[in-house]
Amino acid sequence: MLKSLWIKFLLLLVTVSVIALSAALLLRELMIKDFREYLEGEREDRVYWVTAALESSYERYSGWEAQRTIEDVVWALMLGFEMKLNDANGRLITDTEAAINSLSPLVKKRIAAISRQRLQEGNSKFLPYALFIGGKEIGRVEIRFLHPRKETVFISRSNRLLLFSLLALGGIAIFLSVIFSRRLTNPIKGLTDAVVSIGAGNLKSRVAPSGRDEISRLSDAFNRMAHILETQESLRKKLTSNIAHELRTPVSAIRGELEGMIDGLMPADKEQLQSLYAEIGRFSSIIEGLEELSQAEASSLTLRKQAFELQPFLKNIAGRFKRVFQDKGLGIELQCDAGLAINADPDRLSQIIINLLSNALKATRGGGNILIKAAGKGTEIIIEVIDNGSGIKAGDLPFIFERFYRGAEGGLGLGLAIVKELVEAHGGRITATSEYGKGSTFTVSFPL
Ligand code: ADP
Repeated sequence: MLKSLWIKFLLLLVTVSVIALSAALLLRELMIKDFREYLEGEREDRVYWVTAALESSYERYSGWEAQRTIEDVVWALMLGFEMKLNDANGRLITDTEAAINSLSPLVKKRIAAISRQRLQEGNSKFLPYALFIGGKEIGRVEIRFLHPRKETVFISRSNRLLLFSLLALGGIAIFLSVIFSRRLTNPIKGLTDAVVSIGAGNLKSRVAPSGRDEISRLSDAFNRMAHILETQESLRKKLTSNIAHELRTPVSAIRGELEGMIDGLMPADKEQLQSLYAEIGRFSSIIEGLEELSQAEASSLTLRKQAFELQPFLKNIAGRFKRVFQDKGLGIELQCDAGLAINADPDRLSQIIINLLSNALKATRGGGNILIKAAGKGTEIIIEVIDNGSGIKAGDLPFIFERFYRGAEGGLGLGLAIVKELVEAHGGRITATSEYGKGSTFTVSFPL
């Protein structure tokens, strides 16, 4: 259970939350400590005012004047101090209680009301302070601090607030941690399930990507990989069955003829041997085609790219074909800007063009015309082979680049598959457009 990723995330998030809350707690402790120190300092100041006031009263009246000391004691009470005032011999002159009792009932009531509202007894003790005038001790005052209510209210309220926010924030943090860790790990779990399923041979497995984060990009990449795997797997199966199918025809023909000859049903004469030879020729052209295809597939590793001018190159190929085209009553035309250069493997490029021209030748009847067009366009070089031959049925068009796919009068169905491999090895693309009965255009684009 602890090994599960979402529990780990959860623990991580909870730890972060606890650290953050502890930091808040620590900060609050420091602030309260600071606040208390500030109050302490301020209290010290007030004690100083009280003792200074008592000393100056003593000086003014040359002794402890009863009314004046009562006023000083009452004033000290207003500052938050309870006190006992003794003379130099340690005799009690007055204390807070006596001072208040000596006031008129009305004033006494008001002062009692004010001090009750503002002050409360803390657990602080009476502290003695000596009173001096000109280096001579004139008495001693014992002072006890009465805590202002505001201070206690502030501290207890801040305690309550902190406790509440700790509980609320802690709860929210844990709740969010659970949600986020779940949300984060669920897609990973989905991906793991899909990988396991693909591993078990179910190549149709996909994950549902959601959002735009790294995990959904990973899901996207995974889906693309699964799609490629599925396509490759189906191509492989198709290819194997196509090869078996292609080879079966000449092999059964050869076998049938040989059996006929062995059984004496057929003469082993020149005519039969020539027919056998033709079948074997078909057999070897399939093998050659397959070899050529596998070389084309591996050609990205063996490409010998070089920069060369396209016009003389295409002119040379067209020249080589001119005779065959003329024999069939076809015209061949080249449109290419002078000075247009390409970076490609010349042998492979001529294989591409020758394959396309051969197809155009096969598809076009007498009187037709084939055009080779080359031009630079943006960051690409586009070479087109355009014919006005039979065209390709719309239903066939999407499949013509597949291995062994061929039309009614087709050959092996490997030519365009080879061309596609060679173009892609150059980092280029090939597309075909066609109108059945009117002609076709094959467009090859190479990156500059
Ligand atoms: P093949 O020519 O050996 O049959 P390809 O792979 O070269 O195999 O072509 C596949 C099919 O595409 C052909 O059988 C043909 O039906 C169609 N095709 C290719 N090029 C053309 C073209 N220029 N005009 C009409 N159909 C074409």
